[in-house]
Amino acid sequence: TGFQIAIDGPSSSGKSTVAKQLAQELNYIYLDTGAMYRALTLAALQAQVSADDIEGLKSLLANISIDFAKAENGLGQKVFLNGQDVSQKIRQDRVSQAVSAYSARKEVRQDMVARQRRFAESGRGVIMDGRDIGTVVLPDAQVKIFLTASAQERARRRYAENQAKGYSKTSLAELQADIERRDAYDSNREESPLRQASDAILLDSSDLTLAEVESLILAEIKK
Ligand code: C5P
Repeated sequence: TGFQIAIDGPSSSGKSTVAKQLAQELNYIYLDTGAMYRALTLAALQAQVSADDIEGLKSLLANISIDFAKAENGLGQKVFLNGQDVSQKIRQDRVSQAVSAYSARKEVRQDMVARQRRFAESGRGVIMDGRDIGTVVLPDAQVKIFLTASAQERARRRYAENQAKGYSKTSLAELQADIERRDAYDSNREESPLRQASDAILLDSSDLTLAEVESLILAEIKK
């Protein structure tokens, strides 16, 4: 396996934007693990399998494929569930609202972690973003970053993104409430809760630009 970079942190802290940019510059594989939990959640909602239905989840997991393809602009990627492009659908509010409950299931996490490790083994460098990359998925990653920002700033960023991409019309206040609810849920769950790995570097991006965050991480990589 090649060089591994783990970027963890709460939702909308800027992880995926920074990770995508870095992957492009370094010519590494980029994996958005949140998109995988979102795709699983979409599959479950479509099949009407609830987060409490462990047997239903197991058979769903055994039967779904989750794949990525580079977007035409080079930056970012498309997400495919069973061969269908679900890049837009997995950002819908109904998925965002349900994803934490499915992500809390041990059976779901074991399956996702195994898929993620297979991606990491597929060669050269990899950069992954998520909640448990530095702690569980890639404990031996050479560079680990824990990227945060205030809930207010994260809500503001998600709102701007929703506006630009037309994902949803949720108000700023509702977005902040949803972010805080998900932070609490992700941090307090039993299975690999969101936490900073002991050897991760903490970066608060509230008052930093994307370029500043990127150059701070690049400096760590070059150490
Ligand atoms: O990063 P994003 O907000 O798209 O992630 C959606 C949800 O997926 C998170 O709120 C969390 O519940 C779950 N997740 C996780 N572990 C990861 C990535 C995401 O539990 N590695």
